[in-house]
Amino acid sequence: MTTKPIIMKFGGTSVEDSEAFRNVTSIVKSASRQRMVVVVSAIGGFTNALLASVEKAIDGDARAATRSLDQGFERHLAIAQQLLWEDGRAHFESEIADARGQIGELHKIVAAHPSTHAPLRDEIVAFGELLSSQLLAAVLRENGLATRYVDGRRLIKTDESYGGVVPLAETATATQAELIPLIEAGEIPVVGGFIASTAKGATTTLGRGGSDYSAAIVGAALDAREIQIWTDVSGVLTADPRVVPAARTIPVLSYQEAAELAYFGAKVLHPKTIQPAMDRKIPVRVCNSRLPREAGTLIVTESEAAPQTIKAIAHKSGITTVQITSARMLGAYGFLRALFEVFDRHRTAVDVVTTSEVSVSLSLDNPSALPEVIPDLEKLGAVEVEEHRTIVSVVGEGLRGTPGIAARVFSTISDINVSMISVGASSVNLTFMVDDARARETIVRLHRAYFEDESSNQPAEAYRGGLGVNVMSPPSRSGYRPDLIDVFQLTRELIDIPSVTGEEAEVGSFLAEFLQRLGYKVELQEVTARRANVIATTGAPPHVVLSTHMDTVPPHIASSEDSEFIHGRGACDAKGIIATQIAAAEKLRTDGVNEIGLLFTVDEEVTSAGAKAANAHPLASSCRYLINGEPTDNRLAIGTKGSLQVTITTEGRAAHSAYPEQGDSAIEKLLDVLTDIRKVGWPADDVFGDTTCNIGVISGGTRANVIPGQAQTVLQIRLATDANTTKGLLETAIANRAALDYKSIHDPVRLLALDGSEQTIVRFTTDIPYLTNWGQPLLIGPGSILDAHTAHERVAKSELLKAVDLYADLSRRLLDHEN
Ligand code: ADP
Ligand code: ASP
Ligand code: MG
Repeated sequence: MTTKPIIMKFGGTSVEDSEAFRNVTSIVKSASRQRMVVVVSAIGGFTNALLASVEKAIDGDARAATRSLDQGFERHLAIAQQLLWEDGRAHFESEIADARGQIGELHKIVAAHPSTHAPLRDEIVAFGELLSSQLLAAVLRENGLATRYVDGRRLIKTDESYGGVVPLAETATATQAELIPLIEAGEIPVVGGFIASTAKGATTTLGRGGSDYSAAIVGAALDAREIQIWTDVSGVLTADPRVVPAARTIPVLSYQEAAELAYFGAKVLHPKTIQPAMDRKIPVRVCNSRLPREAGTLIVTESEAAPQTIKAIAHKSGITTVQITSARMLGAYGFLRALFEVFDRHRTAVDVVTTSEVSVSLSLDNPSALPEVIPDLEKLGAVEVEEHRTIVSVVGEGLRGTPGIAARVFSTISDINVSMISVGASSVNLTFMVDDARARETIVRLHRAYFEDESSNQPAEAYRGGLGVNVMSPPSRSGYRPDLIDVFQLTRELIDIPSVTGEEAEVGSFLAEFLQRLGYKVELQEVTARRANVIATTGAPPHVVLSTHMDTVPPHIASSEDSEFIHGRGACDAKGIIATQIAAAEKLRTDGVNEIGLLFTVDEEVTSAGAKAANAHPLASSCRYLINGEPTDNRLAIGTKGSLQVTITTEGRAAHSAYPEQGDSAIEKLLDVLTDIRKVGWPADDVFGDTTCNIGVISGGTRANVIPGQAQTVLQIRLATDANTTKGLLETAIANRAALDYKSIHDPVRLLALDGSEQTIVRFTTDIPYLTNWGQPLLIGPGSILDAHTAHERVAKSELLKAVDLYADLSRRLLDHEN
C-alpha cells in the first residue's frame, strides 16, 4: 500500500450507548483523512450477557437463555433509533431479529447437548462483535464516512483450540486480501474484534478482551502506521485506577514494559496485543474515547521509550499458587522437566515460578484443572495449594541494572507478608505475591512511594540514583518519534481540508487536535468569529517559533501525488510548510529541545489579520527568533521586498455618448493618470533590486453609450526602498487628478542572514511585517513561489524532507547562538 493505514480500536465502553457512538463518530471523522481500519468490541457488557446466556442454556433452559439477552438487544435498538435514519434503522432491526433467531437455535442445541458447548459458545459470543460492527459501520456511514462492514472472521484464522486459540499464518494474507482493496478505494473497513474462524469456517474467539489483539493482528498484517486502542481511560496508568484513584497516565512505554503490565493484570491492554506490534515496530497508542484530546500513552521500542525508570504497578488477584517440596530436587536432573510436563499435559499455564533448594512454587491464574493436576504433582513431592493470592508487579526499564529497587519496594511494605519474589528474566519487572486481602494496601502504598509522594519518601542514600523516584516525564514530552510524522501524508491531509482565506476554522481545529495529541500545549487564538490562529508550545516559553499561515488562495484543489511531487492547493503555500515545521518541532522536542513553538495564522493571503492578532499575544515577548515559512526553494531569504497596494479613483461627469461635450470621461482621466504613472522612474536598491508597479485592476463606466462618470484602478507596487519615497513619486505623478486610497503598505524587510545557508531575496509579502513582537524574523520554506497561487500548485517531496532538517537545524543554531 502506498500510505500506511492506522488502526483504531474502540473497546466496549467506547460503544456502550448512543452518546459513546457519537464520540466514536467524531473521533473517526476527525481522523478520516487518513487511511484507516476501525476495529470494534461488542457494546459494553454484552459479551458478559452472551456468556451468561450460554451457562443458562447448559443448565437446560434454552428459552430463558435467549430471553436473558432481550435487554442487550434493546440497547442495540435504542442506539439505532437515536442515530440511524429510517432505512438504516429498519435494516439493523432485521439484523437483530436475525441474530436473536440464530442465537435461539444455538441455545437449543447447547441445552440438548451441553457437552458441545465449547464451539457453540464461540458461535454465540461472536454475535456481540458482529452486531456492534454492523451498527457502527451504519452510524459512521450515515455521518458521511465511506465505511464498509467486514466480518472479522474472514480476516483472522485460528486453530481449533477453543478458548485459547492461536492465529495461523494465513491470517496475514486473508487480512490483506480483504482489506487492502477497500482501503485503496478510499473506504473505511469496520471490523468486529475478538472473533475469528478456523480453516473449516467454525467461529472462534481470541479470549476475553481480545479485540485489542485483533487490532494488533490486523495492524501487523497491514503494516499499519499506528495501532490506536481507544478506551475509557487516558492511556496506560501508573496503576489500576479502580485501586489507586490517584493513578496517572504514563506518557511513553517500551513494548516490553507494556507487555509485562498487560500480562500482570493491566486490563487496559490484552496481553497478546504487544507482540504483533513489536514484531513490526508499529507504535501502539492508548487513548481515551471520552477525552480524545488527552495525549494518552504511546508504546514504542525500548530506545525510544525514555526515560528508563519505574513506570507502573500492575496486579492480578484471585491467583492460586502451588508449592511442590521434594528432597529429590536437590541436585537431581529432570525434576523441573517432570514438573512442567504435568502442567503441560493438563494445558495449564504457569505465570510465575520461583525455586528454593528443595521446593518450587508456581502461580496459576486458571486453576480449573487443579483437581487433575494435584495427583500427578503428588508423585513428585508434597503439594501445598494456596488460593486468593495477588501477583503484584513493579514494571519499568529502570529495573534493569538498578540495585536497590527491590529493597525499597519491600521496605515500603515491610509489614506485609510477601512470597515468591521474582525478577523477570526480562528484568523489566519485579514480581511478588501477597494475600488478596492485603493487595489493595500493598499497591496503594507502593504507588504513593513511587508516584505520589516524592519528598517524604526519598530513597535511602544507598539506593538513590537508580530509583528515579518519580520517573514520569510530563505529558508534553511524549517521546513521539519524529519519523512517525509522515510529512507527505500530513501535507496531503492538510491540503484536503479546504481553507481559502476566511474558512480556516476546520484546518485550525484539525491542527490544534493533532498537536494536542502529540503532547503540545495548544491555544486557539480567536481572530474573528470562528477563525483562530493556532499557537503551540511544549509548555516551556518558546525562544524560536516556526510559523506560517493556514489560509490559501481560491479555489480549493484536492491533493494528489506522484513519485516526485505533492500537488494541490496549498502544497507549497503553505500546507507542506506546516507539515515540515511540525515534523521539525517534533525532531527537536524528542532531542529534549523545548524552547520552540509553532504559530499558524489565518488571513495571510488577504490582510494578515491573523498575524496582527498574534502580534499582541503574550507569548511573543519570550520569542527571540521567528522562522517564517513561505516557498523560497529552501533558501534563506535575506530580505523581502516591501509592498504597497493603492486604489486610485477618478471622477467625471456622465452624459450621453452622442453628446460628449456634456460630460467628462473618468476613464480617459484615469488613462492619462496611468500613462504618467507608467513613466515614473521608481527607486532601486542594491539588495532588493527595482521597485515594480503592477496595474492589477481597471474598472469604470457603465455601458458603451454613456460617458463614464467614475473609474478606478488598483495598483500593487513591490517596494525596493521605503514606502514613503514611492508614495511621494506616485502622488506627484497623479498631481491631484485622482483620489488615492492606500490599502496596505509595508516597507522592505531585511532578514537575519546566517552563514552557510543558501540565500535569496523574495519579492512577495508575508506575515513578517506584522509579527514585529516575535523576535528577529527569518524566512525560508520548501517549494517555489512560482508554483504558489497557480492551478498546478505543487511541492517536491525531496524539498519537504530537506525542509524538516533545515528548520530543525536552523532552530538549533539560533538557540545555540542565543546561549
Ligand atoms: P475496553 O472496553 O476499552 O477494552 P477495558 O475495560 O478492557 O476497556 O480496559 C480499560 C480498563 O482497564 C480501565 O477502565 C481500567 O479500569 C482498567 N485498568 C487496569 N489497570 C490499568 C492500568 N494500569 N491503566 C489503565 N487502565 C487500567
Ligand atoms: N467483547 C470481548 C470481551 O468483552 C472482546 C473485547 O471487548 O475486547 O471480552
Ligand atoms: Mg479491553
